[in-house]
Amino acid sequence: MYQGQSFQIVEHGSYAELVFNDQQDKVNTLRDSALKELEACAEVLESAKIDGLVIRSDKPLFSAGADIKAFRGLFEAGEEAIEAYLSWVHSVYNRIEDLPFPKVAIINGVAAGGGVELSMLAEYRVATTDAKISLPEVKLGIMPGYGGVTRMPRIVGLDTSLQWLTTGKNFKAPKALEHRFVDGVINAAKIDVVEEAIAMLDSCVAGDLNWQARQDEKKQPLALSQYEQMMSISVARGMAFKVAGKNYPAPHIILDTVEKAATMQRDEALAIERKGIAKCAASGVADALVSVFLSDMQVKAKTRSFTAKADKTTELGVIGAGIMGGGIAYVSADRNMDVVMKDINKAGLQLGLSEANKLLSKQVDKGRKTASQMGDVLNRIQPTLQDAALENTDLIIEAVVENPKVKEIVLGGLEESAPNAVIASNTSTLMISGLAKSLKRPENFCGIHFFNPVHRMPLVEVIRGEKTSEETIAKAVRYVEQLGKTPIVVNDCGGFLVNRCLTPYMLAFNQLVVDGGDIATIDKTMSKGFGWPMGPALLIDVIGLDTAEHCVDSMDAAFPGRLSAPEVNLFKAMVENNRLGQKNGAGFYQHVADHRGRIKPAACETAQSLIAGLSKEAQSFDADTITMRLMLPMMFEMIRCLDEGIVASPQEADIAMIYGTGFPPFRGGLFYYMDQIGLAKLVEIARQYEPFGPLYELPEGLVKRANNGETFY
Ligand code: NAD
Repeated sequence: MYQGQSFQIVEHGSYAELVFNDQQDKVNTLRDSALKELEACAEVLESAKIDGLVIRSDKPLFSAGADIKAFRGLFEAGEEAIEAYLSWVHSVYNRIEDLPFPKVAIINGVAAGGGVELSMLAEYRVATTDAKISLPEVKLGIMPGYGGVTRMPRIVGLDTSLQWLTTGKNFKAPKALEHRFVDGVINAAKIDVVEEAIAMLDSCVAGDLNWQARQDEKKQPLALSQYEQMMSISVARGMAFKVAGKNYPAPHIILDTVEKAATMQRDEALAIERKGIAKCAASGVADALVSVFLSDMQVKAKTRSFTAKADKTTELGVIGAGIMGGGIAYVSADRNMDVVMKDINKAGLQLGLSEANKLLSKQVDKGRKTASQMGDVLNRIQPTLQDAALENTDLIIEAVVENPKVKEIVLGGLEESAPNAVIASNTSTLMISGLAKSLKRPENFCGIHFFNPVHRMPLVEVIRGEKTSEETIAKAVRYVEQLGKTPIVVNDCGGFLVNRCLTPYMLAFNQLVVDGGDIATIDKTMSKGFGWPMGPALLIDVIGLDTAEHCVDSMDAAFPGRLSAPEVNLFKAMVENNRLGQKNGAGFYQHVADHRGRIKPAACETAQSLIAGLSKEAQSFDADTITMRLMLPMMFEMIRCLDEGIVASPQEADIAMIYGTGFPPFRGGLFYYMDQIGLAKLVEIARQYEPFGPLYELPEGLVKRANNGETFY
């Protein structure tokens, strides 16, 4: 009946099937051309002499939703253009919904966003057992805009709809059934799903199912009293504020929209929905989050280009069973790799194993693993004191103490005992090319830099030394991908990418405090105001003052002058006073347990007086000054990293900072943030801070780009 590139209509007895099957793509995307075809389909179906319609996909997944790449253009086009475009989409969707016969949608595999909204046009939905259904728009700073905000509460009720709309979570078929989003779950391996859908249409035609009532319900105001509505919305508002905070407006806009549209008929409600989308776009956060999403896709594509060239790691060696080695062994065994974990003493091995044990027990407690699965993971970790046990490993990660002499001896030994393995170091401050000097096969060696705690942090830097081969990098990237983490390949330098850019931020904090800045005000400005997960003082307490001091010293050695250790070094002073941070309960803050036993930072007089003794008289700095004094040195270092080729693109750098340091995603990443300020404006601001010394020296790459009117993206 209709043959398009994305949609086809085929007859099925007295019924028809609207089939979503993109002929040129592995996934079904509701791009512009697909929506135009859907409009043509509506035309065909309106004049078709049929008794009912099945809406389904011919692929292993239903639909990934709208074309996210096209969003940014639409955001930029502005409110009127957004509303006009969505008016058209809504008219197309309404025409399908209004067809004068019953409709059943079959949801199989992944169904997201606009695809899920397409299924809402049917009066009945069935899911196959493999279905994973979500309305993830909120995660991109927007809301479902193809009628989802309007239809969802009318289908599943207000409370459930708010859960779907404001969290963007994935719901598997049984949950979707429990939430009454679908009417049935079918095991497609055993039962013909299309025939089941046809049987439902038969029941509609026979009058056994009142499909018309279902259709009417979707067009009516919500069937709830004003009091019930108010209760639901205000509970959801509290939750949204707690989870998303003020920097992520989309959940709040969704709630406003649902509330306003609750008493309206469908078409009026859709008009409110369009306004809501325009508002999300106008906030700028949507564009930032979409940019992060697209950068992440780019990083994933780059990862795939490496992984295609390397075999999976099957047997991993880990040298040093400390905090990092223990964590690396655990995450690798958890991903089905056999792990040989070597240390020089039994106590070390015990520590590594008990760390894995602790993490796995938590998983069992939460019901995420069975005791037998926990046993399987632990059995995959083979503790040893002997190098000989490493013979069959194909990748070895060295995570012994941060001492170049010890590392050189260990690495040299590995070349002998595991001749076929790629060797990597988890060092955080030693250059990979330096460590490689002691190796016979430096091409076989790279950095694989995990962040602490290993099981939680999603980013891993893969470091290419001067002599590292591309095969070695490919092997390392593939391994990181096996862990389900994000690898960023960077070239070798002091601190690599993330710590190199974080150190100037810490130095800037030191300088601002020494100049009389108040720690609590700075932390509040950078966390609540700028959006970091925590302010710099607390961050340094969590990292550990000793680690921070070591980091500053090693960057001093790598970049003397610009990143020299400060004359008044608060990190050093803290360490000298046995204030190591969270690990011993005392740092810039006092870390004490609250009534529920959770460790919380509290202001500490001893720390304050120690700092006061080393600093100028207390001064108050405004939020802009605090923000710029801390962020400019980080931005400058990142520009240098890009221009020196340490990181290959602004996209990779932005993902690295978001995943590696918690840089606020709603700001789109460090480069995106600079583009938003505007480079000429940034130079103008930065000039005011030049007198503060070498940390604030403008990088040539910034001035040049600003003069040429360029942007990073
Ligand atoms: P750690 O002190 O907790 O553990 C080091 C382990 O290495 C100890 O169990 C020790 O017994 C063992 N060891 C020492 N010499 C050895 C040898 N010759 N052979 C085998 N084992 C030996 O240290 P850690 O914090 O886990 O750090 C390990 C490495 O990871 C360091 O290079 C560090 O810079 C890096 N790193 C640490 C962090 C962090 O936050 N802790 C983060 C990223 C990277």
